[in-house]
Amino acid sequence: VGTNSRFDTQIYRRPTRTVMVGNVPIGSEHPIVVQSMINEDTLDIENAARGICRLVDAGCEIVRVTTPSIAHAKAVGEIRSLLTQKGYQVPLVADIHHNGIKIAMEVLNHVDKVRINPGLFIFDKPGVKPNDFTTEEYEYIGERIRTTFEPLVKKLKEQNKALRIGVNHGSLAERMLFTYGDTPQGMVESAMEFIRICHALDFHNIIVSMKASRTPIMLAAYRLMAHTMDKEGYHYPLHLGVTEAGDGDYGRIKSTAGIAPLLADGIGDTIRVSLTEAPEKEIPVCYSILQSLGLRKTMVEYVACPSCGRTLFNLEEVLHKVRLATSHLTGLDIAVMGCIVNGPGEMADADYGYVGKTPGIISLYRGREEIRKVPESEGVTALIELIKEDGRWVDPV
Ligand code: SF4
Repeated sequence: VGTNSRFDTQIYRRPTRTVMVGNVPIGSEHPIVVQSMINEDTLDIENAARGICRLVDAGCEIVRVTTPSIAHAKAVGEIRSLLTQKGYQVPLVADIHHNGIKIAMEVLNHVDKVRINPGLFIFDKPGVKPNDFTTEEYEYIGERIRTTFEPLVKKLKEQNKALRIGVNHGSLAERMLFTYGDTPQGMVESAMEFIRICHALDFHNIIVSMKASRTPIMLAAYRLMAHTMDKEGYHYPLHLGVTEAGDGDYGRIKSTAGIAPLLADGIGDTIRVSLTEAPEKEIPVCYSILQSLGLRKTMVEYVACPSCGRTLFNLEEVLHKVRLATSHLTGLDIAVMGCIVNGPGEMADADYGYVGKTPGIISLYRGREEIRKVPESEGVTALIELIKEDGRWVDPV
């Protein structure tokens, strides 16, 4: 962190290792990966597989499923087979909770990554409350975590699969709460405890997350985590997300408010927008965040003025028509500007411009060059013709 200058338009990614999740590489040398999680019951094989397919069809690149029991872990094997039959090769991740080492060991045979939550590995000494802990008791707990966690790390290493150490602000272990409070420091230390065990076993296929439902906490935790890892020489990729962001506009804005500032600072290698909606609705939000920061270009970038008293046509209606006609194209920037006053300057970087010239007449631009004037009623058709003339048009499927 710290390579980004506040006056630089370039985003410099925090240098990380590359961690493979199935056939998807995650890390600073690779595009930022979009992921999500199904909300179907993992035991309902058919429905779970359908949920995964819907996510993949929407553009999701890694899918997570929950595995609260051994039966769920075994069901993931069946889901995987069904996906293969359907021709879906997406990497799968299993979510492991309370003392779930046995579940993790089982599900590892069927997935590409497991996610553990350090806060739910509660190995506190029976009958002793954290505020009564002595140094010996901390050592006892540390040792118990190590011996319990080690077989999983060894199996991950053997199978060359990945681990997400996924800390949640809302579920820190008692002893972390006692030592650090529910602070970003407590979250970071929770992850570091497990990272150090992996490091001692020479296992490095690690991705780390620091999710919180309160955006300022999440921002601070990720920044501190990146700083701490870099200081200690652990260059692991980060998975970004705001938990329980809610739904609708606010859920999307809250997620963006957490994810985008970190990405702009070069922090983050994979993202999830967690919405209380159908999971596939998360995917366009992820891609919009990445596109708006210039980190991935997966759709047409529309530059449109907000309209004002000078606007020479119904901007909202025209933008809608232009979007309808061109949104299946990729890699293009199209500007729709209400008048000539600010139009050409503001749309200077666009590939094509649709600009109000005089009442009833619009001008079409290729870059900064005015190509032709046409009646407004023929504007969208003429724009499509221009894109076709340039060989940049493909028919929608
Ligand atoms: Fe108004 Fe023209 Fe600016 Fe659009 S481009 S906001 S119409 S001045």
